Amino acid sequence: MNEVELLADADARGRQYTEANRNRRVFPSDQAIAALTRFDEPLPEEGARSEETLRLLDDVGSPATTASNGPRYFGFVIGASLPAAAAVERLMLAWDQCASTFDNSPISATLERVAAGWILDALDLPRESAVGFGTSATACTLTALAVARRELLARQHWDFDRQGLHNAPAIRVVVSELVHITVKKALRVLGFGLDQIVYAPVDAQGRVDTARLPLLDARTILCLQAGEVNTGAFDPFDEIIPRARRAGAWVHVDGAFGLWARASSLARLTYGVELADSWTTDAHKWLNTPYDCAMTICRDARALAESMNSDAVYASASVDAQKNLTLEFSRRPRGIPVWAALRSLGRQGVAALIERHCAQARRIGEGLAAIGLEVLNQITLNQVLFRCASDAQTLAVREAVQASGEAWFGGTIWHGRPAMRISVSSWRTQDADVETLLALIARTVRQLHGDHPCGP
Ligand SMILES: *Cc1c(COP(=O)(O)O)cnc(C)c1O
Repeated sequence: MNEVELLADADARGRQYTEANRNRRVFPSDQAIAALTRFDEPLPEEGARSEETLRLLDDVGSPATTASNGPRYFGFVIGASLPAAAAVERLMLAWDQCASTFDNSPISATLERVAAGWILDALDLPRESAVGFGTSATACTLTALAVARRELLARQHWDFDRQGLHNAPAIRVVVSELVHITVKKALRVLGFGLDQIVYAPVDAQGRVDTARLPLLDARTILCLQAGEVNTGAFDPFDEIIPRARRAGAWVHVDGAFGLWARASSLARLTYGVELADSWTTDAHKWLNTPYDCAMTICRDARALAESMNSDAVYASASVDAQKNLTLEFSRRPRGIPVWAALRSLGRQGVAALIERHCAQARRIGEGLAAIGLEVLNQITLNQVLFRCASDAQTLAVREAVQASGEAWFGGTIWHGRPAMRISVSSWRTQDADVETLLALIARTVRQLHGDHPCGP
């Protein structure tokens, strides 16, 4: 096969995979997983034929995928790939652009500039903000927190870039008690010890409790969140952020998925979030672009550009070049799938997607309650948290659903006890898929526990 025939073969296989997605097992069978030993081969001495490598990947690899790009995957907050976003990725692969600067790739720089503007418009964040397209919310939060520390130190007349951290004024970090693990990871990697972090107590839904907010001052970075991973709850931004800003603190918001509520009629949940200094959000979750695709958004465009600058004598660029706004130097133009997703949905399409998922989550909550299960969160967003009467029942129901291959959702611990967690975030999930999920859970509960799902 020549190159073009090989790519055509890959594309045909990709199309077949996509077509079969609706009926695929949501989690692979034990048999498909066992077959993965086929890949445990030594590094070949001589190269294999490309078409044979592709065939192996499809024959053994495709059956062992998780159908998270299908309609009945409710685990984590995974999203799916919108057709427009998936299609432009295919073309982007052919282009193979290094999207560091305009000089590297004029088309990439242009589309990422347009996508950045649309993101600020869709999320209604300060239009003067800089937007860096990074690999993940993890990487983008690391970026934002590095900027935050550098700026707070600069206000204390400390030049972080030249003087580093040794003998620098101490910077405090205040985070929600239910801060996402990746924010903690970013802090740890940046050199904030976990024992140094101050935890803000939360209420029953996982929102930072305004009445018990720790001290904030001009040497504090405060991390809030839009969309707690279990409940989907939002911190009370309008009460906290003005206070924090008056104290001179830097406010960063982790809105990996929840910030998208802002692009819908649920925007009121995020009221006041626009007052923060920096935000992180993913496109690969609720905007349904392919992985890896996320954004650092920073109100002070100069601060982000200075902090991430990587100009060299052989590679200097404008301050808003993506290599100067992200951790990466060589990088793919991950803003292009964002551009395609937003262009294919439009403002109304984004709102409709978010609103539909939230309505489906409410329907799931009603259905679970009707089965006799305990719904643990106020369903304000796309997350549903629930459990059976006993921990053993909760674990048994989750495992049985996961093993069924008909749908998939994960487990968590809520207030010290096991719980189950459903997230609606795929454009493919139709109302019928929600009913299939509820019927599956009802059947599973009946088979395992008879008529007493809430009994002792
Ligand atoms: C998923 C998630 C993250 C991490 O995002 P990645 O893109 O997976 O790095 C951070 N915060 C919240 C609230 C999340 O849901």
